[in-house]
Amino acid sequence: MVCRSSVQRSRFEMKLQKLGLGKRLNSLFKAKRDREEILSDIEELLITSDFGIEFTTDVIEELGKRFSSNDTEERASVLKEIIKDRMTLDTPPYDGNTITVLLIFGVNGTGKTTTVGKIAHHLKNEGNKVLIAAADTFRDAAIEQLAVWSKRAGVPMIKQYQGSDPGAVVFDACDSAKTRDVDFLIIDTAGRLHNKERLMEELVKIGKILDRKLPDAQRIKLLTLDATTGQNGVSQADLFNQYLGVDGIILTKLDSSAKGGIACAISGRLHIPILYAGLGEQIEDLVRFDVDEYLASLFDEEN
Ligand code: GDP
Ligand code: MG
Repeated sequence: MVCRSSVQRSRFEMKLQKLGLGKRLNSLFKAKRDREEILSDIEELLITSDFGIEFTTDVIEELGKRFSSNDTEERASVLKEIIKDRMTLDTPPYDGNTITVLLIFGVNGTGKTTTVGKIAHHLKNEGNKVLIAAADTFRDAAIEQLAVWSKRAGVPMIKQYQGSDPGAVVFDACDSAKTRDVDFLIIDTAGRLHNKERLMEELVKIGKILDRKLPDAQRIKLLTLDATTGQNGVSQADLFNQYLGVDGIILTKLDSSAKGGIACAISGRLHIPILYAGLGEQIEDLVRFDVDEYLASLFDEEN
């Protein structure tokens, strides 16, 4: 399982603290204006910070009911509590009893291949035997890109060639996972085919191969979402969830996002937990998503 070291924790906070939400929120809470005006300003701040209209409306409604205190700090902690209550929370549910298959999917450019490398590295460092599979056979140079990560992470990779059947790659990877007696098999997939339906069909097919070849494996379906795409990320998650079911989200590029509320919008609206956050392009730039740390950093009054 991926653990957060203290170095990573402080980096998570540092990245989020650049967003400056806390200071703005505090000055709103402190403003000597009537309740409706303050609530409406907070609503605007949350919406412009990517919390999403539906999530924000719900939060503001509850905040309105509980908006009695004049104490700024208390108001801020009530707000955090209301937000947290509306998020779906979980940790990576690895049970460690059998092979765990991590199926990584998401649209092109959201960070699938990079994340496969990062997770492989972390899991290996924790003493797990890890195998990765290059099932994106569609995109130019996708296999080579994953091969670079395989080398960096020091984990073996199963591949075929560009244009080959991704199902066949997964078939081979399952055999190899059994022969090598691995703890984790991580599968990189294509983010785009000729059309959306084809992509979904292909992912469903991969699922069927896993059912057949590794019936006892624990399978976790992880969607990568780029934090910088804002509310569009919510629609992507909705789509993949409808077709395939999503067990958890990896929110990538949180280091480049200027907003940050997107995590709440996703886990609150779609009831899917965010399990990891990507904080950069290096192999170490992945942390477990910790909601308390996230909200504390987002609303820290120092920033
Ligand atoms: P894929 O198409 O979904 O496989 O996406 P890639 O893994 O190829 O990543 C697309 C781009 O996003 C690459 O340039 C990555 O370096 C970059 N990237 C991925 N994750 C992160 C992240 O957490 N932070 C930043 N800043 N860049 C990232
Ligand atoms: Mg890729």
